[in-house]
Amino acid sequence: AVLDRHVSGMAASQASFRTFYSEELRRAIAAGALVNHYQPTVSLTTGAVVGVESLVRWNHPERGLVYPDEFVPLAEQSGLIDELTQAVLRTALDDARRWFDAGYALQIAVNVSMDNLVALDFPEMVMEELAASGVPPERLVLEVTESRLMQNSVVVLDILARLRLRRITLSIDDFGTGHSSLVQLRDLPFNELKIDRGFVHGACEDEGLRAIVEANQRLARSLGLRTVAEGVETRAEWELLRSCGCDFAQGWFVSSPMPGHELPEWFEDWEI
Ligand code: C2E
Ligand code: CA
Ligand code: CA
Ligand code: CA
Repeated sequence: AVLDRHVSGMAASQASFRTFYSEELRRAIAAGALVNHYQPTVSLTTGAVVGVESLVRWNHPERGLVYPDEFVPLAEQSGLIDELTQAVLRTALDDARRWFDAGYALQIAVNVSMDNLVALDFPEMVMEELAASGVPPERLVLEVTESRLMQNSVVVLDILARLRLRRITLSIDDFGTGHSSLVQLRDLPFNELKIDRGFVHGACEDEGLRAIVEANQRLARSLGLRTVAEGVETRAEWELLRSCGCDFAQGWFVSSPMPGHELPEWFEDWEI
């Protein structure tokens, strides 16, 4: 519907629409019109806040806050994903720096696209942004979506290995939605596995979902990975994930994503 409104009046071939919209996105990135919201990650054993994940939004002059599912794929298709990721990373590291200075010992997680992991200078870019912000590499988590990981090439593996060598934490996002084999997972240098919210939410009512969550948890453990359950919406889900031995939780039960300036106050109020 959003697309319809936008193309009406234009010679509406998909290609011309995409050109129009990607040009608008390019300008928005350059003008700093992307904003990061942040969603906390909390320890399931202690309740302590261990980190926040950055989730990008486009603050659009007419349409208000536009969500990433609508423009990240466009950025990937139109060659803007390197600029987008760098802009998000820079903002996230600047915000994180301020929170560290205020005494919050957080990890900061940033979503990266598979398309970023084919650019050979990607690790250099990340290290430069870390250096400029003064955030230690140990504090940065890069999340990569599993469904596309398995198109992995020698280049992707090389880039992941170089990031890992610099002590950046690597996380597999949306785990269970792709088709990774055990062998592939074993060969990739990841530290963390995020169990997709499609399995977590509803796992209390559905034995099939619960079995998938438990299997993912065992798989992660056998590979030595820490686990994050996404999409924890209820206390019952929180308790279930905790009893499964999952390490961390994220989701509306803890907090929905919020603008960075709201985080310190949320932090002070948080208790489980
Ligand atoms: P994701 O990384 O899996 O992020 C989790 C998504 O689930 C977020 O949607 C978040 O708002 C939503 N969510 C969090 N807790 C709950 C919950 O309890 N219930 C439900 N139903 N949803 C919850 P969002 O912000 O719309 O982001 C969508 C996707 O866009 C992200 O999925 C991520 O893959 C991508 N994305 C976001 N920011 C970036 C970015 O800076 N770069 C790239 N490449 N991708 C991004
Ligand atoms: Ca993510
Ligand atoms: Ca996810
Ligand atoms: Ca997702």
